[in-house]
Amino acid sequence: MNRDQLRSYLEFYQDLGVATVYRRQATTGERPAPAEEQQAPELVVLPGLAPEGDTLDRIEADIGDCKRCRLHEARHKIVFGSGNPASPLVFVGEGPGADEDAQGLPFVGRAGQLLTQMIENTAAKEGIPIKRPDVYICNVVKCRPPENRTPLPDEMEICGQFLFRQLKTIKPKAICALGSTAAKALLGTKEGVTKLRGNWQKWHGIPVMVTYHPSYLLRPYNQNAKREAWEDLKKVLHFVYD
Ligand code: URA
Repeated sequence: MNRDQLRSYLEFYQDLGVATVYRRQATTGERPAPAEEQQAPELVVLPGLAPEGDTLDRIEADIGDCKRCRLHEARHKIVFGSGNPASPLVFVGEGPGADEDAQGLPFVGRAGQLLTQMIENTAAKEGIPIKRPDVYICNVVKCRPPENRTPLPDEMEICGQFLFRQLKTIKPKAICALGSTAAKALLGTKEGVTKLRGNWQKWHGIPVMVTYHPSYLLRPYNQNAKREAWEDLKKVLHFVYD
């Protein structure tokens, strides 16, 4: 594990109350200098899960030209998130696909078009005056996994800290988790979407509705799931906007 990864882990676990301050020597593995050369060890104060005054710009700057995990190797663009930074509703997907990787924006491919339709058609039908740009959309991992594979646990953990900071900064009234990767990242559960969907869960006190990922709904034999996803979205939109 390199130093950046170790720092990421420490920041992640800080939220669990595990680490607030650590000594640089302990993290770098540097050999202690001989006693006569030793100065007081430098204390490094790690920023919290959402450091005081955190902003989306600051989180994006902290991500920088990220090389914290292997996903950076094949990526073209980091996909940070898009939409209204003050939105009361945040959608969380799994990770960028090819279109998102090319454009640097979340949910712009086929699944994204379906998500846009789901949001806008349901809102219009329910008399809720919102369009896609009124909500915020992001992913668990910010770089495209090769061949669109599911992100690995360490990739989710490293990148998840930035998702968590985004959510802590936006402080939405509700989160909609799209698919099992988002559900796992937010709820730490292995329970499948079929079991979780339709009922409110919580992430750090914020209500979370898990529903099917739009890519899953694009498969022609999942029409029943489509109907259920529409029901879930209706519930979310009324909860947030009524
Ligand atoms: N699938 C996702 O999970 N996220 C995207 O941004 C696009 C497709």
